[in-house]
Amino acid sequence: MTKEESIQLQINYPEREEDVLKFWDTIFAFEQSLEIRKDSSEYIVYDGPPFATGLPHYGHFVSSMTKDIIPRYWTMQGKLVKRRFGWDTHGVPIEMEVEKDLNLKGPSQIRKYGITEFNEECRRKVLRYAQEWEHSIRRLGRWVDFRNNYKTMDKPFMETIWWLFHKLWKKGLFYKDFRVMPYSWRLSTPLSNFEAGLDYRLVKDLSIVLKFKLKNSNNTYLLVWTTTPWTIPANLAIAIRRDLRYVKVKLDNSLDQYIIEKTCLNMLKTSNFSIVETFLGQEIEGAHYEPIFDYYKGGANRVFQVIHGDHVSTDMGTGLVHLAPAYGQDDFIACKKSGIPFWGNHLVDEEGNLLPLNLNIKLAEPFLINEFIEKGCLYSKDKIEHSYPYCWRSGTPLIYRAIPSWFLKVDNLKDSLIENNKRILWVPEDVGRKRFGNWLENAQDWCVSRNRFWGTPIPLWECKTCQHIKCIQSISQLEALASRNIEDLHPHFVDLICFSCEKCLGTMYRIPEVLDCWFESGAMPYAQSHYPFENSHVFKYKFPADFISEGLDQTRAWFYTLLILSTAVLNEIPFRNVVVSGLVLDKNGNKMSKSRKNYPDPLLIIKEYGADALRAYFLNSSILNSEPLKFDEKGVKDMKRLIILPICNSLSFFIQYIKIDQCLILQNNHLSYLDKWILSKMQNLILEINIKMKRYELYKVVSILICFIDDLTNWYIRRNRRRFWREALNLADKLDKEAAYFTLYSVLKSLSKLIAPFFPFLSEILYQGLIDVYKEPQDKKSVHFCDYPTFNSILVEEKLETEIEIIRKAVNVVRILRERAKVKVKQPLGVLWIITKNEQFINCFCNHVSILEQELNIKQIIIQKEFQQDITNNIGESFDVKDSNLNVFWMTQEGIDYGLLTNLTPSLIEEGLVRETLSVLQKLRKNMKLEVSDRIMLKIGIESEFLMNTLKSNEKLLKDELLAVKILWDTKSIVVGQDIKIGCFFIRAIINKLD
Ligand SMILES: [Zn+2]
Repeated sequence: MTKEESIQLQINYPEREEDVLKFWDTIFAFEQSLEIRKDSSEYIVYDGPPFATGLPHYGHFVSSMTKDIIPRYWTMQGKLVKRRFGWDTHGVPIEMEVEKDLNLKGPSQIRKYGITEFNEECRRKVLRYAQEWEHSIRRLGRWVDFRNNYKTMDKPFMETIWWLFHKLWKKGLFYKDFRVMPYSWRLSTPLSNFEAGLDYRLVKDLSIVLKFKLKNSNNTYLLVWTTTPWTIPANLAIAIRRDLRYVKVKLDNSLDQYIIEKTCLNMLKTSNFSIVETFLGQEIEGAHYEPIFDYYKGGANRVFQVIHGDHVSTDMGTGLVHLAPAYGQDDFIACKKSGIPFWGNHLVDEEGNLLPLNLNIKLAEPFLINEFIEKGCLYSKDKIEHSYPYCWRSGTPLIYRAIPSWFLKVDNLKDSLIENNKRILWVPEDVGRKRFGNWLENAQDWCVSRNRFWGTPIPLWECKTCQHIKCIQSISQLEALASRNIEDLHPHFVDLICFSCEKCLGTMYRIPEVLDCWFESGAMPYAQSHYPFENSHVFKYKFPADFISEGLDQTRAWFYTLLILSTAVLNEIPFRNVVVSGLVLDKNGNKMSKSRKNYPDPLLIIKEYGADALRAYFLNSSILNSEPLKFDEKGVKDMKRLIILPICNSLSFFIQYIKIDQCLILQNNHLSYLDKWILSKMQNLILEINIKMKRYELYKVVSILICFIDDLTNWYIRRNRRRFWREALNLADKLDKEAAYFTLYSVLKSLSKLIAPFFPFLSEILYQGLIDVYKEPQDKKSVHFCDYPTFNSILVEEKLETEIEIIRKAVNVVRILRERAKVKVKQPLGVLWIITKNEQFINCFCNHVSILEQELNIKQIIIQKEFQQDITNNIGESFDVKDSNLNVFWMTQEGIDYGLLTNLTPSLIEEGLVRETLSVLQKLRKNMKLEVSDRIMLKIGIESEFLMNTLKSNEKLLKDELLAVKILWDTKSIVVGQDIKIGCFFIRAIINKLD
């Protein structure tokens, strides 16, 4: 790397990342990294398949990063880590897109259009953004095999799904039931309970109280509250609770009497009433009432009765609950218990229309209210704000609807699920123990059927004559029954196949439903390898996964279905370790929204700061500990400043000097104590990072790393600069210089490997920069082919580390004192007192007193157990001030008193001026982009005689430090150029480079 290049590195870091990508391509880096480990034992990662119907968002970048770090780390630990990308291709997300493209609305229009054409359109479009995905993921630096990907719509994948379904079928885990399910009328399909919980919204709905007249009474009414007026036509019963106290009240201005629960009297909205009677709920159980509508009149004996319902509460409403068993889960259960059946004549069709009015249920509500008023049964009407579930795909309100559906019995598996979950390492632990654990405790049977088109068909064929059901487990089995080849397993192919019943010789047709696509993603461990049709001998090495990672929203989705299927099929855990990431929000904590554009494009962020800066930003937040992250571009910028640039600068520093000196020797017995210190620090860093990685606490890595970078750049390199650039005049100097090079080289080399999993680009740039100047025999073509650094306790110098820490703390205190006294760091000061009784501290300060003097720019450091009054003796005779005029700033920290004398003597002032001049002229050299070894001619113009004399008397020092062969002194007005401020004076300077 030339000087130019190293400057480029800092300015155009993101472009250097692009160069690294090209470099990886030329050496087939990813493939090679696998090849190197081909005989090693495998570390298994599963990729949760995303949908390619939209572009990747920040959440995908977070999980892609995590799914890159862990495999890189374990590869460097010597494992073979294959990484196969997967695509989720079936189900509602793509069906919705295609419906929109084809201008279709709902299943009946799709059927009319043609399921074959519809499904083929889904197949064509489902991977429409796959290229953009590949580009983004590559730019983020993630290594993953796109070419050998798996897709849930592949024939082998689908065949495994069938085999899996059959396996569970044989175990008797599936059953069909009329069940009230969360239902999306926009999609005309039931959803599982976990899908129903994905989009709760705070909305305003109607809230009405209706009067139901008790039979055989002139004027007694049951007061019933509801927020879903559209379900009233389907009312079949009213529920009370036997143990609650109800009252009959009479309003002052009316003859009517109302029955209501005693604590719900506020629902009457008046205080002008009297209580006629109080009784327990059980006393009106069985009472008949007159229905408002007569759609179900004559259906069964027990309808339109007051029954007991466990779910009745008094938190809201009147203590009497209207029951429409076709459209409510609790309603269905309570009615079933009381022998009131729902016999399947829906009043709401599959697309959400209330049939008697032929209007969508929501649009029908105003008409229903009018009807209530006309019939005289509306007691009161209000609006209520409450949280209501919406369809996560179509954004329409969900309803509950009784549907014949296929279920997987989770109840039977519950104990095994809970036991298995205890064997999984969750990060953070709470998500697994509480969130996921509670979800498992309350797990309900899983509705696996969907009334849709583009998916894996449920492999059940039913006899039209005797209702016998046959479950198909493979393509060959179906081919034998159909006596022909089957090229595709999608519904529009296999639904054409029928065969005769083995029981009655009737004809068997496939049932219409397809499988929930979560069943497919949960089945990916088996289906991606086409198990057991292929790869059955190696499957046991690929299961369970050592690692998976996805967002918190997968707790009730992918994580759950993986565990259910592995427990049901193998009674085994599907993954050993899981990192759960939180949600990425916009700067203000709002959901990121494509339409509102409230966040910057991730690829533009990468272009501006580099992928590694973005990775550092994610890693440094708690998002990998499942907490939400408010995305702020400034945070990415900070990471570039705190990690990327200091490391680049350290590399350029090293390269600049080694190119001049050419004296790298990779063995050294002349290490200074600072060399030993930074080498020891590096060992601790290696230890710490390995511990965190083995506990999957990725979110703890960056803060440790930033501390180390501070040690390296702000202490080790800064304090040792002189060792690199001064000329070695004797053997001792030469050995010392070699020690410094050796140390910096080893530290940077270890660092490159250590950060490789996290910052794949930066580490490569660092590694290539180092091996370019000195190649060791064991060096590899890429840092990612190296072994991960291991802890070496021999290099640890605990005592030294403690001492330097004490010294650095002292330095910080004195910096604060200087700030308080408003004295610049460049201004030398006379005396610092350090007062402590602690022997360890005293020894430490005495050992390193010269560092303190240099670092703090102080002439004399006095270390005492007790402050001695007579200080003038200590500070020497040159200090021509009286005790009473001494200006001392004091501060106490950790039991140590620090006193800084800020009085300036003429010689201190002179030295300060010289130092300031030097620093200004060094900066000038730097701005001219001179090499550190370039010699110069310097011309200085000065007006002040005092400053001129001061500088002239330090001419040798100026020449040495600035590599000036000659200095020409002049008056300021003669020298052309800008004024430069030195203390309270102004100078001008011209530097000419000498050849
Ligand atoms: Zn049959």
